[in-house]
Amino acid sequence: MAKDSKEELRSAGTLDSLRNTGITQEAPQATMKPIVSLVALADYDDQALVDKRVREAINLCGGMPAFVRPGQRVLLKVNLLMRKRPEEAVTTHPAVVEAVVKLVQAAGGQAIIGDSPGGPFNPKQLATIYRWTGMQRVAERTGAELNYDIAEVQVTHPEGRILKGLTLGSYVTSADVVIALPKLKTHGLTLYTGAVKVLFGAVPGVHKAEYHVRMPRLDDFSDMLVDIAIRVRPALTVMDAVVGLEGAGPSAGKPRAIGALLASPDPFALDVVATSLVGIEPGKVPTIEAAARRGLPAALTDLTAAGESLENMRILRFALPPTVGIDFFERHLPRFLAGWVRERLRARPVFLHVSCTGCAACYRNCPPQAIQMVNQRPEVDLSKCIRCFCCQELCPQKDVVIRRPWVVQALLRQRQ
Ligand code: SF4
Ligand code: SF4
Repeated sequence: MAKDSKEELRSAGTLDSLRNTGITQEAPQATMKPIVSLVALADYDDQALVDKRVREAINLCGGMPAFVRPGQRVLLKVNLLMRKRPEEAVTTHPAVVEAVVKLVQAAGGQAIIGDSPGGPFNPKQLATIYRWTGMQRVAERTGAELNYDIAEVQVTHPEGRILKGLTLGSYVTSADVVIALPKLKTHGLTLYTGAVKVLFGAVPGVHKAEYHVRMPRLDDFSDMLVDIAIRVRPALTVMDAVVGLEGAGPSAGKPRAIGALLASPDPFALDVVATSLVGIEPGKVPTIEAAARRGLPAALTDLTAAGESLENMRILRFALPPTVGIDFFERHLPRFLAGWVRERLRARPVFLHVSCTGCAACYRNCPPQAIQMVNQRPEVDLSKCIRCFCCQELCPQKDVVIRRPWVVQALLRQRQ
C-alpha cells in the first residue's frame, strides 16, 4: 500500500475514535471521555494469565477488533531503551508484548515489534537489544516480525505547536496502525515516562539528540513530546505496569512491583491514570501539563475509568528521581533569569568513575557534545550541558548520577 493511502487509512479508520475521544487539539467532549482500563496482574510468570489479563484490559476499551482490521500492518511500539534483561524493568516485558501480539494476530493483523532505542539505530544494535530484552523470543514464539527498517521519513505536522515538521522512523509511518506498549517508569528529565514519552522513540536514532538541543527548556521539550504523540497517533496504548521502575529512572532505578496493566485509546488519558496510580500528581508531570494547555485529557475528570478501582490499587511511596523539583525554578522564572538559574541551581550529571568501563556511550549520545573522553573516562563541560540526562539514561554501568546543589535541596524541602 502506498504511504499516502496508509496515512489516509490511519486518519479515516481507527483514528477517528481518537479524535472523538479528545486526542486532537479540540477540547474533550463531556459525553465522549476516553476510557482508561486498569487490570490487576501480580507478575509475568504465567503467560496464559498474562494473555487473559491483557485481553481483559483491551476488551474494556472495546476489544482488539475495534483497533485492528484484517490485513493491517500493526506496529507494536515498545520501550526498548537499551540492552537490558526483562527483569531489570527498563524495557517493556516480553510477556505483555506477546499477549498483545496474539490479540493483533487473532484480529487478522500483522504484528511488527519495533523501537528506536537510545544510541545508534542500526540492525546490529537492534538485533542485540531484541535478544537481551526477550523480543526475539516473542517473535520466535508468535511469528511476529522484528523491525530492522532504519530508514527516516520527513513528515509535516500542521497541528504541531513546537514541531511543524519532524523526522520519524519509516517503521512508524509505514504501519497502518500503531499500538504503544510503554513501561511505567520514572524519568530524570520528565519525572515520569509512559504513554506519551514512549513515542519519542518514533524519532530515529541521533535525531532524538537534535531535538534535545533544539528544545533545552523542559516546557518546550514536553510540548514537543505532545506534538509527536499527536502526530504518531497510536490507536491503542497498553501499559506494562506489572513491575515498574522507581527512583533514578528511566534506566538506573529500581524495579518496583505495581501489579497493573492499563489500556486506553488515548495516551494522554492513560498517563493521568498511571501517574495517579503511583502517587504522582498528574499536574506535576510536564507532558501532562503540556497536554492540559491544549485541552487534552490531563485530569481524572477528563476520562472514564474502567476495571479495577484506582484507589484499591494505588501504590504508596513510589520513589521519584533525584531531579524532582529542579526545573521548578526555571519554569517559574522569566526567561531572562532562566539562564542564570540553569547554570547555578540546576541539577547536574556527575560521573563517578567507579564502575565506568570507558564504553563512551555517554560521550557518543550527549546531544550538545558536552562530554570529552579523557584517559577513557568521561569529563563534562557543564557550561555546554543542557541537563537532558541522556548520559545517565544510557550509561549501562549506572556510573552517572544526578546531583543538585545543597541550596536547592534545602529550598525544595521547605516547599514540600
Ligand atoms: S560513564 Fe557510563 S556510559 Fe560513560 S563511559 Fe563510563 S560506563 Fe560508559
Ligand atoms: S552531559 Fe549528560 S546531561 Fe549534560 S547535555 Fe550531555 S548527556 Fe545531557
